[in-house]
Amino acid sequence: MCGIIGITSNKLVSSPIINSLKKLEYRGYDSAGIATIDSGYIKEVKCEGRVESLEEAVSKSKLTGNVGIGHVRWATHGIPNTINAHPHSSENVSVVHNGIIENSTLLKKFLINKGHKFKSQTDTEVIVHLITEYLKKDNLKDAIIKVLKKLHGSFALGIIFKDNPNLIVGARRGSPLAVGYGPGENYLGSDSYALKSMTNKISYLNDGEFCIIKKDNVEFFNKGGKKINKKILHLSSDEQNYEKGDYKHFMAKEIDEQPNTIKNCVNEYIDKINKDINIFNFPFKEKEIKSITLIGCGTAYHSCLIAKYWFEQLTSFDVSIDIASEFRYRKNKFKKDCLYVFVSQSGETADTYAALDLCNKNKMKTCSVVNVIESSIARDSKFVLPIHCGPEIGVASTKAFLGQMLVLYILCLKLAQKRKDISKKDYLKKIKNLLNLAELVKHSLATENKIQSICSSFIDAKGSMFLGRGYSFPVALEGALKLKELAYVHAEGYPAGEMKHGPLALIEDGMPVVVIAPRDQHYKKTISNMQEVIARGAKVLLITNKSKDEIYSENIWETIEVENTEDDLFPFLVTIPLQKLAYYSALKKGYDIDKPRNLAKSVTVE
Ligand code: GLU
Repeated sequence: MCGIIGITSNKLVSSPIINSLKKLEYRGYDSAGIATIDSGYIKEVKCEGRVESLEEAVSKSKLTGNVGIGHVRWATHGIPNTINAHPHSSENVSVVHNGIIENSTLLKKFLINKGHKFKSQTDTEVIVHLITEYLKKDNLKDAIIKVLKKLHGSFALGIIFKDNPNLIVGARRGSPLAVGYGPGENYLGSDSYALKSMTNKISYLNDGEFCIIKKDNVEFFNKGGKKINKKILHLSSDEQNYEKGDYKHFMAKEIDEQPNTIKNCVNEYIDKINKDINIFNFPFKEKEIKSITLIGCGTAYHSCLIAKYWFEQLTSFDVSIDIASEFRYRKNKFKKDCLYVFVSQSGETADTYAALDLCNKNKMKTCSVVNVIESSIARDSKFVLPIHCGPEIGVASTKAFLGQMLVLYILCLKLAQKRKDISKKDYLKKIKNLLNLAELVKHSLATENKIQSICSSFIDAKGSMFLGRGYSFPVALEGALKLKELAYVHAEGYPAGEMKHGPLALIEDGMPVVVIAPRDQHYKKTISNMQEVIARGAKVLLITNKSKDEIYSENIWETIEVENTEDDLFPFLVTIPLQKLAYYSALKKGYDIDKPRNLAKSVTVE
């Protein structure tokens, strides 16, 4: 998490740094800070809270300087206050950091023994003192190489120096970092989004690399200090996607964009004329793949869970799923005939990246499903399937979830066809269904009024439950997660069939329970489970699909009906009312919907 920006220019840098920090705020928003080389000295301005407060503080401070770094923090070590806000500085060195220095306690002891005095509780401050210590004897480049070797854990760093006032050092291990090129100035940033308003020419640092950025040139080095060349990428400009338009929140806009994102993604992957799926240059022989492992975190993990049902249903693969933070530390039995699929919106999720890295080191077949195609996960996986959603700014994922599900479904269908696990007739039918999906999703958006009228029950209750079977079970998990993230109320997602093995004890009079029961093969069983919770006093919101058949149950509190489709596509339709439920619950509580407390968008620390 956290966002880093650095600018070296022949103009004043504090105001463009603040503007970039505003764009990076989705990555961390508990405190913010900036440091420049002002009249030959390092000068910091920092504050608790949002970039808005920093902007005020900077304008009062009359900060000047042509070289500077800025940071928005998502605290890992030390409470979010002004002292712990980045940059952290000594007289000669100032550092912004994204990541965690795992051996900071040991390094701190070593530095205190050498006479260094610490001001903050952060792990980051050891980097400042370590560089200051090495600079007593070494030149800048050697000092950096030695310091980076001493650090355990993950980092993206931006560093400025009083005695080298014309440059910024950037370094990366684990956390992402980009370099941008502009006229008479160059930049460092956590992602291209932060730099886009200044340049579309970008290079990315790979793990272990560092760079020295001056206003008119940038040099890149590997971890041993050998100079390396970097490709400059030219990014397309899609600035308009970064605006809220008439919407109050990015989340509301992103929920409503979903029919379009489905349409775009389907257009990218489906050849409408030949009724086929375009997945070109797949680098592995399908015959050599016997199993699939899907890996992700949070919402992306839920998309993997749903995809497991699809792969089992439509293909003969052995399918497993894993939470990246667990996978990376287990004693995995790597299988040469397995395709490892990594799912991440940002493509920078630290745990997912580490799991991918582990597979790459073991020479496995790796493939990623990402939104940001310039991301580390996309760059380091052997094959990339973009979800084509456009930027997702709201911290709670919505359209990227649908995009991830869609691409996993498309991959599943293509592999099923290649392996002849699916008949031609069924394959064509499923492609036709995909071509209609955007239209059906559009209808699910029209649940606004009902959701608005019932969300008070969810926010006033002690807790709520979300139940489903089959594909609807991971959807239930996602619905509960959204309500937790945004409305800060307890919500449990559960397989409906598991209720009587414990959680039924939680049901009491008036407890809101969402039952997701489209009329698929599980419908009757789920309806029985629904009756069991109603019998114990639950207020049930049933999400099902339109049908002529009556629902054989009494005392349902509210019902939402989505359109009809094939069983396997219901997750796309029933997810949307759940996103809206979380959105309107948070709105009613007056919470910061696009930046929920304690969270950040791109989870770049483990
Ligand atoms: N570990 C550092 C801190 O807590 C950086 C956290 C971040 O990546 O935002 O200050």
